[in-house]
Amino acid sequence: MESSPAADKILLKSGILLAHEGANVQVLKGYDLLIEGKEIRKITRGITPPPGARVVDCTNKIVSPGFIDTHHHLWQSQLKGRHADHSFFDYMVHGNLHSYNYKPDDIYWGQLAGCLESIDGGVTTVVDHSHMTYSPDHATAAINASASSGLRTFFCYTAIARVKEWSSSRLEYDDEVFPEWWHTQLESLLRSQPFGDGRVYLGLGFDSWKLPKKEIIDLWTKCRESGIKLFTTHYVGNATGSVDVKWMSESELLKPDVILSHVTGAPDEDYKIIRENGAFVSSTPDTELQMGLGYPVAFRDDIKSNASFGIDCHSNNSADILTQLRLGMQHARAIEDDKRVRSGSYPAVNIKVQEAFNLGTIQGAKAVGMEDKIGSLAEGKLADIVIFDTRSPAMVCAVEEDPLAALVLHASVRDIDMVIVDGKIRKENKTLTPIEVREAPKFGSDKQIKWEDVVDEVLASRATIKKRSESQSADAAREELYRRFSGK
Ligand SMILES: [Zn+2]
Repeated sequence: MESSPAADKILLKSGILLAHEGANVQVLKGYDLLIEGKEIRKITRGITPPPGARVVDCTNKIVSPGFIDTHHHLWQSQLKGRHADHSFFDYMVHGNLHSYNYKPDDIYWGQLAGCLESIDGGVTTVVDHSHMTYSPDHATAAINASASSGLRTFFCYTAIARVKEWSSSRLEYDDEVFPEWWHTQLESLLRSQPFGDGRVYLGLGFDSWKLPKKEIIDLWTKCRESGIKLFTTHYVGNATGSVDVKWMSESELLKPDVILSHVTGAPDEDYKIIRENGAFVSSTPDTELQMGLGYPVAFRDDIKSNASFGIDCHSNNSADILTQLRLGMQHARAIEDDKRVRSGSYPAVNIKVQEAFNLGTIQGAKAVGMEDKIGSLAEGKLADIVIFDTRSPAMVCAVEEDPLAALVLHASVRDIDMVIVDGKIRKENKTLTPIEVREAPKFGSDKQIKWEDVVDEVLASRATIKKRSESQSADAAREELYRRFSGK
């Protein structure tokens, strides 16, 4: 039973379609797009509605491929608003470390609210680096929430340094990063993936580079052989430390199924190694520029071909990926122009809006190994689609001139009229549609709930998490973090 309109066929009529021809985006005006089940069946003019099809009038609407966010921590909704003036270490102390205060039910509501914020913003696929794994139940809650939400995600199961005790005077970590239950659950997830009607895939989130090398190789090899198609890791040269991509390459770990998030502050050689191994990077401009992680690299000439974009922490910034693309593009333009002007030339703009659009769509699809399934509007691909209103105050006139400019420079979440994921309408008339929850705390399974229900639950959870943290010393946490990161 599904909450979104039951029609198995949806005809998008007379839209302005943004269709890829390789890396070139073609604007197809007055075209129809027919969805059957999960797939885009046909794109042409004048399609006659098949019997029983839901017809959506897309006159004055831009029909875009859904956006792909390649780095996000979807569980963090309850921590939103905390990080206004935070650097990376402040974020760790007041945000990330509070996964310690989340019970599985809190994960469920944080994760669900995170997924729905993404859908609201036109994102249809998210790589979820799920670094909150305090117990098997935490991971299960996250998977159930992702499955309930309707979003396409890679749930990247992660072993984390877990806090053992956090009091008014001290913070102590558990020595064991990979407990037995973690491996047992991994085996079970490998056997049972994908989840949520085949829309939630299993990935591996991995940041434990200090483990013995053989253990790392054995774990990655086992995961690859058991069907994990995506591996992701943080690489922040000037904060948490770089990743030895040369060793990864030599050990045959660095392959096209790897996404390295940020890759800031890296030597030039590392971009070459990543590129030559066909791996990908994910740039997340808001957190990178704010938290001292370094400059976004997605538009660098030596890594652009293997770049994509992500949100990182929706606890810190909006999950609207158009904002990230815009920020990343304008930052890169500024760097280029700065060089040009300093060398005595006039300013010029070489980075085009089409490149930004591609980084959020087809490049993201390549990064997650699904170029043949998502990332563009094409017959036979999965129906992950975002429809923008072109007559809003922001969009009017821009679309008439250049629909790509309208999206990349003028659009925001309020202009998103409809979002379709896997052939199902998840946002309509600018409002999220009700969802059918699975294993939801208080609601159980097969219950239909609205966004307002999620609001009530996530707010209650936030208050509980906050209360649990009242006696925990931020100073003690900071001290312990400095000690760990300095390797003492
Ligand atoms: Zn991250």
